[in-house]
Amino acid sequence: MNIDDKLNDYYTSKTCRYCQGLIQDPVHNGYCKTCEGSIAEAYGLVKQHLSHAPGATLADLKRDLDVPFKILHHLIKEGRISIYDDPL
Ligand SMILES: [Zn+2]
Repeated sequence: MNIDDKLNDYYTSKTCRYCQGLIQDPVHNGYCKTCEGSIAEAYGLVKQHLSHAPGATLADLKRDLDVPFKILHHLIKEGRISIYDDPL
């Protein structure tokens, strides 16, 4: 591993996967403390909702759960949830 890879590793491990903010304490999932809570909460809500309403759209989720689109898109991009249509 050369020095660039090491630096790269260092920075990616210290940067939040959601807000790209610097992470003060080592975390396992790659989120800062602020995002960890909101992402986990949103993910739980969405998962639960999709189990009851498998055909729910992004707009449904936003309306019913009040989860920000930014978080929904993040979860989709990370492959943690899948939603049929994505018109936005
Ligand atoms: Zn963050």
